[in-house]
Amino acid sequence: MSSGSRSPDVCVVGAGPVGLTTALGLAMAGVGVTVLESAPDIAPSARALVHQGHTLEGFARLKVLDAMVRAGIPLRGRDFAVRRTGERIHHPLPDSRTDTAPAHNLILRQDVLSGILLEELLRFPDARVRFGCAVDAVRQNGATVRIDYTHEGTHGRLEARWAVGADGARSTVRNALGVDFEGFTWPERFVATDIRYDFAAHGYADANFLIDPDDGAIVVRIDSGNLWRVAWTEDASLPEETLPQRLEAFFARTLPGPRNAALVAYAPYRAHQRTAERFRVGRVLLAGDAAHVTNPTGGMGLTAGLHDAFPLGEALAAVLLGRCDEDVLDRYAHVSRTAFRTCFSPIATDLKRLVFDARDPARLAEALVPLRRLASDEELRRSRATALRSVMPVSLLDDDRSAGRRHGGEGRAPGTVRAPA
Ligand SMILES: Cc1cc2nc3c(=O)[nH]c(=O)nc-3n(C[C@H](O)[C@H](O)[C@H](O)COP(=O)(O)OP(=O)(O)OC[C@H]3O[C@@H](n4cnc5c(N)ncnc54)[C@H](O)[C@@H]3O)c2cc1C
Repeated sequence: MSSGSRSPDVCVVGAGPVGLTTALGLAMAGVGVTVLESAPDIAPSARALVHQGHTLEGFARLKVLDAMVRAGIPLRGRDFAVRRTGERIHHPLPDSRTDTAPAHNLILRQDVLSGILLEELLRFPDARVRFGCAVDAVRQNGATVRIDYTHEGTHGRLEARWAVGADGARSTVRNALGVDFEGFTWPERFVATDIRYDFAAHGYADANFLIDPDDGAIVVRIDSGNLWRVAWTEDASLPEETLPQRLEAFFARTLPGPRNAALVAYAPYRAHQRTAERFRVGRVLLAGDAAHVTNPTGGMGLTAGLHDAFPLGEALAAVLLGRCDEDVLDRYAHVSRTAFRTCFSPIATDLKRLVFDARDPARLAEALVPLRRLASDEELRRSRATALRSVMPVSLLDDDRSAGRRHGGEGRAPGTVRAPA
């Protein structure tokens, strides 16, 4: 924890990857930020794994990309495999190298990413992270936000000029604002398992969508050894207590070679497609899973959250530092909500239906046509990647900056702003 006793400009609730990324953007711009986190430390969880090129650009701006690349492994392609026919469609990822981002996607465990973000954040004297502080209530008036929390059984209170709710899918902040979480819950339960097994020896790519209405699965390499994530679905009405037996049966049916997989961890969880009705209420903004959740097929959950965090940290800092007026925060709320509803959520929904639910052979055949086309047409893959990048800006201010727009803001000298890299 760094020191610093005055009220922060911004309180971020939740030290998940989205909260820490938002806080880092604020701290880099010279804004005082306090992160309140209910857990005692960063939870060791391998949930999200894959970071795409456009996301890496955002991390390059925050100066953590080098550390991430050192800690992760490159991901250069993915396979769609139809279990029943044995067809395997390989998509090499297009080289989407930019001035700042590497040519490949990156595999990096979510908790390792959070550790890198935390270390960088705590270099800033006006940044604090307080673990073990569970936020209970959030209230605001026209000038400040008051955040009540419990720390080791004692009640505490923090006042900040702005607050960001990045406290995950069950967000206390979202509930305190009375914002609806519209959408639905899938009838299936996802089961994420981490196993040691040599999938590469059986022709697997680093990321694989195994299409089958009974035994669909997502298989992704976790490290450069033989640790892999295998995620599959089952009827959510089945009892969780008997999951270990079903796990064993699933691997007996689906492993491509010897039955010598070593189970390292497994976690059952429900999946949803939900979006908060609003991402901004006055001086409080929502980001990440607090604002939207998706089923995990395609790795869109954290990707969407990071594409909230990059522009939000920068935009909120710009408001506080007098570089632009609050309209930019409404723009954040609109752009992020629209990107989730029109891009991230539909991609994840279509992929989930393809991988796990394609029972009708005619519909499956139809769905495979564009995948085969993408496999053979590099230009098409590149233009898809470019189109995706355009709906996921890492900055809402680049256009303003190039147009030279300036606003009254909240009253610090504009000269104190650090330009992003
Ligand atoms: C098994 C699994 C696999 C997944 N795989 C992928 C993947 O491959 N790719 C992908 O993009 N996404 C994946 N996701 C989704 C991804 O993990 C989430 O989208 C991501 O964690 C969202 O980050 P976040 O920071 O918004 O929320 P979280 O990571 O949930 O962090 C929220 C933080 O807020 C804290 N908090 C909660 N309530 C309070 C409170 N009242 N006061 C203070 N702190 C609080 C929590 O302790 C937590 O640290 C997966 C999810 C699961 C469950």
